[in-house]
Amino acid sequence: MNTRDFIELSESRSAHNYHPLPVVIASAEGAWVVDVDGNRYLDCLAGYSSLNFGHGNPEILAAARDQLDRVTLTSRAFYHDRFAAFAAGLAELCGKDMILPMNTGAEAVETAIKVARKWGHEVKGVREPNIIVMEDNFHGRTTTIVSFSTDPDARDGYGPYTPGFRIVKYGSAEAIREAVDENTVAVLIEPIQGEAGVLVPPDGYLAQVREICTSAGILMIADEIQSGLGRTGETFACDHEGVVPDMYVLGKALGGGVVPVSAVAADADVLGVIRPGQHGSTFGGNPLACAVGSAVVAILNRGEFQRRARELGAGLHERLRELPGVVAVRGRGLWAGIDIDPSLASGRQVCEALMRRGVLAKDTHGSTIRLAPPLVVTAEDLAWMVDRLGDALSAF
Ligand code: PLP
Repeated sequence: MNTRDFIELSESRSAHNYHPLPVVIASAEGAWVVDVDGNRYLDCLAGYSSLNFGHGNPEILAAARDQLDRVTLTSRAFYHDRFAAFAAGLAELCGKDMILPMNTGAEAVETAIKVARKWGHEVKGVREPNIIVMEDNFHGRTTTIVSFSTDPDARDGYGPYTPGFRIVKYGSAEAIREAVDENTVAVLIEPIQGEAGVLVPPDGYLAQVREICTSAGILMIADEIQSGLGRTGETFACDHEGVVPDMYVLGKALGGGVVPVSAVAADADVLGVIRPGQHGSTFGGNPLACAVGSAVVAILNRGEFQRRARELGAGLHERLRELPGVVAVRGRGLWAGIDIDPSLASGRQVCEALMRRGVLAKDTHGSTIRLAPPLVVTAEDLAWMVDRLGDALSAF
């Protein structure tokens, strides 16, 4: 089968909930992927930051292979010998007492919402808890999560919607302050809004959110599913402002690009509201996930990828800003949202032109493209990629 055959069969036999670039990937290593025709591409999406530590990271693969031969699934009806180390290691990485493991990001966000509501009912005595969320958020695709999306594509047609959310402007501490009432139990926030186009809030904003939550006695929940685990040059994007949320929501890179692994991390006075039988997941915290997750935690404890993201990211944003047709560049570390002059080309057109030049990236919201290569990428790869982007933009 060639590229066209693979695409035709995929499109005829699966729902069209994605609009992929016309490339069919067959293998990958580090920051590079190879398609079925043998063409190489620099992966500048990294599975929406699930592949922070690179395709086929040897340490992560070794942990997974070793575990495949032992035991892969027990369910949480029993203990298994990989769970304790993963739970303790991840909790420690987060500076929290404990974790609750799930699989996908949306499940972890749902978990955070349920924990916050239950904490509100039991600890604060709130009957109708509300949670403050941000305009242009992206937290996943479940019916509850899309209920508080402001993106019509994500939300429209999926009603009736789950109540209990108040949407405020991202980046305005004042808006949060005004929205808090006696029924508010939490603020749910992306420290950097990824899917919205890598929107970095104003300096000091996260610290203000922290201060508002502390003084109102409500939970600050940081969705670090995309921003966390090294991408921005720190373990968590909240670290840039020295902010510690009450709950971290983690996913994507936690599974090392091998298996879906997500979790929430919080202290015992928060996560302790969940008791046996009240929440769970058949696959959450399975032995394979824990083995892989533990390898990821070990990698993050060494700090090498946070350092790489910091060092390689420095200067990248300036170089991108100098390219023709680029009207804005946002981001931190090895993460950039690039707005292209819409009169020049759409984000999709630029991504297609990049693909023809050996770079895979993803557009968002019309004329924005995101760059988030695996953190194993080299300075030479990045310089080459910036040249390819300049070349692609000049062609319009
Ligand atoms: N939260 C954030 C910030 C995300 O970026 C995403 C996915 O892009 C999710 C949640 C949902 O994760 P998943 O697709 O694994 O459900």
